[in-house]
Amino acid sequence: MPLEIVTVPCRQDNYAFIVHDPDTGSTALVDAPEAAPIEAELDARDWRLDEILLTHHHDDHIAAVEPLRELYPGLRVTGAAADAHRLPPLDHAVAEGDTVTIGAEAGEVLEVSGHTVGHIAFFFPASDLVFTGDSLMVMGCGRLFEGTAVQMWDSLSKLAALPDATLVCSGHEYTAANAAFALSVDAGNAALVARKAQIDAARARGEPTVPATLGIERTTNPFLRAGAPDLKEALGKAGASDAEVFAHLRKLKDAF
Ligand code: ZN
Ligand code: FE
Repeated sequence: MPLEIVTVPCRQDNYAFIVHDPDTGSTALVDAPEAAPIEAELDARDWRLDEILLTHHHDDHIAAVEPLRELYPGLRVTGAAADAHRLPPLDHAVAEGDTVTIGAEAGEVLEVSGHTVGHIAFFFPASDLVFTGDSLMVMGCGRLFEGTAVQMWDSLSKLAALPDATLVCSGHEYTAANAAFALSVDAGNAALVARKAQIDAARARGEPTVPATLGIERTTNPFLRAGAPDLKEALGKAGASDAEVFAHLRKLKDAF
């Protein structure tokens, strides 16, 4: 059976994801922003946390690791070997191409630097899930705090190559602001116009917009469309490389 996910709102606008393998009863958590809401969701289902997978070192993704370790003795923590010096102590240090497992299901580690250097994502192909942290976000992408635009473009291109049905489980509810920016640069995109209306309606009802499928992201997320001739043209960048157009979009978003 596919992995079950529970999206847990934490702090102001973070999401953590509880991932449960119904076949084995194993339960993992992707990112650990805040212990109390995660513990409440686990208790409500009578699930015991076995493992935490960390996408990157920022405090709003790791702050609850030690409190959860105290609550669940024996809990294993997995994160990027490249970031071991600034993550909580790791039981499993991984790099691109390594395999992580949740219960019986194998996931692939992808290096997705850009927001930070050493940021990783976890792709579970059998369940159509990818956990992207602050790299690819729903309708957007993370700010370039440490990496270059070329690194982030490479990372997004890697994620964009996953199957359409893949659910993008990203770290924040930034979708409404991302969609407003997207429309400001890509107003001729009919799929985007329709999606913006759906997003605004969902937020007005207080519903999360994360996760979303990669198929819809590929057609409406401007950061995944940096290589699209119509968007390049609309930006006055018809002759520019995909990575240059991505860098331009990221700068526009930073100032939006
Ligand atoms: Zn971050
Ligand atoms: Fe974050």
